[in-house]
Amino acid sequence: MNRKGILIVVSGFSGSGKGTLMKELLSRYADTYALSISATTRSPREGEEHGREYFFITKDEFEKMIAKGELIEYARYVENYYGTPREYVEKMLDEGRDVILEIEIQGALKVKKAFPDTLLLFVTPPDATELKNRLVGRGTETLDVIKSRLDRACEEAEGMDSYDYLIVNDDLNECVEKMHTIIQGEHHRSFRNKAFMKEIKEDLQRLKGED
Ligand code: ADP
Ligand code: 5GP
Repeated sequence: MNRKGILIVVSGFSGSGKGTLMKELLSRYADTYALSISATTRSPREGEEHGREYFFITKDEFEKMIAKGELIEYARYVENYYGTPREYVEKMLDEGRDVILEIEIQGALKVKKAFPDTLLLFVTPPDATELKNRLVGRGTETLDVIKSRLDRACEEAEGMDSYDYLIVNDDLNECVEKMHTIIQGEHHRSFRNKAFMKEIKEDLQRLKGED
C-alpha cells in the first residue's frame, strides 16, 4: 500500500510537555516522523539554537515571509509572531513521513481549514497545579511571563474540544507510546486510503469479468 504522510498538529498549554514529548517521539521513531521547525520573532531561550528549536528571525524578516506566501499559517502568541514554513512540510509529506506541527490553537484551526485531513492532538498535564509546577520548574521564564502563559492557557482550554484527541501527559513514557499508537492507527482510517480502495475495486471488477 502506498503510504502517504499524515499532517499532525500538536497543541497544548505552554508547559504541558509538548516539546519534551516531541523530542522523545522523534528519537524513538526517527524514520516515521518529521518535526516542522517554526519561524519566530521571540528571543532564543538558553540552550536553544537557530535552526534546531526555531528559526529565530526579526519582525521584518517574518513579515517578508508572510508577504511571499512562505508560511502555511502564522499567529501572534504573547507579543511574538510564530509561523510554519511551507516548503519543508510539503516535501516531507510527499516523502511519506508523518509531519508534526507543534503550534498553538489559532494556527491549528487555520491548518485544519486549509488541510481538512489534518489530525489535531491536544496535550494537557493531569491537572492545572501540575501545569504551573512544570512552568516554574522549567525555569526559563520570569514569573510575569509565566502568568501570561497561564492566562493564555485559560483561553486555550476553551478550544480543546475542537481537537480530535486529548492526550494527558502524566507518565512521559506512556504518553509517547499513546501518541504513536493514535497516529499510526489513523493510517487505517478508510478516508485516508481512497487510492487503495479504488484499486482493489477495479481489480475485483477485472477478476469478475475474466470468467
Ligand atoms: P511545552 O513544550 O509544552 O511548553 P516542555 O516540554 O518545555 O513544555 O515541558 C515543560 C516542563 O515540564 C519541562 O521542565 C519538562 O521537563 C517537564 N515535563 C514534561 N513532560 C513531563 C512529564 N510527563 N512529567 C513531568 N514533567 C514533565
Ligand atoms: P514557545 O515560546 O513556548 O516556544 O511557544 C509558544 C507557543 O507558540 C506554543 O503554544 C507553541 O506551540 C506555539 N508555536 C510554535 N511554533 C508555532 C507556529 O509555527 N505557529 C503557531 N501558530 N504557533 C506556534
